[in-house]
Amino acid sequence: MSPLGICLVASEVAPFAKTGGLADVAGALPRYLSRRGHDVRVFLPLYSSVALAPGDHHPVDFLTDLELSMGERRVRFSVITARLAGSELFVYAIDCPELYHRSSIYGADDDHLRFAFLTRAAIECCQRMGWAPDVFHCNDWHTALLPLYLRTVYRWDHLFERSRTLLTIHNIAYQGVFPRSVLPEVSLDGDAHRFDRSDLDAGVVNFLKTGLLYADLLSTVSPTYALEIRSGELGMGLQELLRQRSESLVGILNGVDYSEWNPETDEFLPAHYSADDLSGKRANKEALLDELGLAPAPEAPLLGIVSRLTPQKGFELLYDVLPQVLAERDVRLVVLGSGAPDYEGFFGSLQGSFPERVCFYRGFSEELAHRIEASSDIFLMPSRFEPCGLNQMYSLRYGTIPVVHRTGGLADSVRQWDWERQTGTGFLFENFDATGLRWALGSALATYDNRDAWRRLVANAMASDFSWERQVDRYIDVYRRLSGRAD
Ligand code: ADP
Repeated sequence: MSPLGICLVASEVAPFAKTGGLADVAGALPRYLSRRGHDVRVFLPLYSSVALAPGDHHPVDFLTDLELSMGERRVRFSVITARLAGSELFVYAIDCPELYHRSSIYGADDDHLRFAFLTRAAIECCQRMGWAPDVFHCNDWHTALLPLYLRTVYRWDHLFERSRTLLTIHNIAYQGVFPRSVLPEVSLDGDAHRFDRSDLDAGVVNFLKTGLLYADLLSTVSPTYALEIRSGELGMGLQELLRQRSESLVGILNGVDYSEWNPETDEFLPAHYSADDLSGKRANKEALLDELGLAPAPEAPLLGIVSRLTPQKGFELLYDVLPQVLAERDVRLVVLGSGAPDYEGFFGSLQGSFPERVCFYRGFSEELAHRIEASSDIFLMPSRFEPCGLNQMYSLRYGTIPVVHRTGGLADSVRQWDWERQTGTGFLFENFDATGLRWALGSALATYDNRDAWRRLVANAMASDFSWERQVDRYIDVYRRLSGRAD
């Protein structure tokens, strides 16, 4: 089959810049596409936080000191190309200090401009490369204006006549809604009529909705989430539009990069282990409890959480349940994350009440995330909604049993443990309430107490396979469907 040309544009790409699952996908998918021989070119902002490995990056001569007009404003930028770790692929980082040298990736007053600029800069680079991708793959609201730009600002350029657009929704809760007065700044002043009428009447524009209107094809990151976002409140106001575009919406579960998330090789672990020999898992647990200053607990289960602490993640379900469980039995709890003050306050006070048994590590740490995955026995993800979720899939590979709400990608990746048949990989509760969570966690702990059942459950979990090796084919199918190139 002939190679496809894919231009992937994203606001975060691991390992260069990451706040969540989008970065993992934008870092892994291109690697797997390029291994299959496709021509994939990835564009992201060069934030000041990006650490480029010496010798592994260089400027691109013909993409240096360029100028791009965003409305009245002239913005200058250059492109640095940098090797994506674990591959021979080089990404294109848009170097524009005035827009990207900020204290954090998101949350600036001019985010509309910063990401509209990224979108346009990617298109302009393709022009200068004389490259017409088969598919422009945009991701979330940040780059969702790309399909509209191709129909407006770049309509004159026949280079892109045959290029098609795919917009992937990683989380519909973030839509990029701005006052309509930003339109001149993003070079779309003359195209206001192409935005949603009711939004304009309300004085706003919605970047994600605009992408949903103009992208040739839409995808989201799990089959269940693809159903949920068009059927009810999880569509966050966009369900009607998604129902209209049902034929053009596909759900593809994210993959896992097992070269990074594998207990047999994980560089962040003090001890490696496999399904055949779990002794390393115990060693990791001992080491982690020691590292975090918790009391040793060879027999007690360790519960783990690694998450952005946002209301989406549903941690209020733990408010009553965890203190009760901690009071009733000997367990350990390690939580890594930061965000909403309510959640931080809860985990902080839990640590205060049980200092020997609970550790709340407030922050972001890739290493600690790996060590928690490897050391824990049970992983808690009570998400109210979860487009895909990666940590439950990482957990499975590490033999760490997920306790999850049956929603989105959690429903698509965790199978209910059935004691009779000895099948399943975790515990799912149906309704988003504390009773459901209490039941699921209680079932997990009861199973933990039975050595044989637990051993079997862990073996089932570790045999799960969500590798990109497989999932990449689903994207290739979509790209081919879009480009009309079955060859
Ligand atoms: P979301 O995209 O909603 O944040 P996902 O489960 O899809 O949720 O992806 C989260 C990713 O971010 C995972 O790779 C997870 O390990 C990582 N992550 C989240 N919070 C932290 C943290 N505090 N420290 C390290 N990694 C984190």
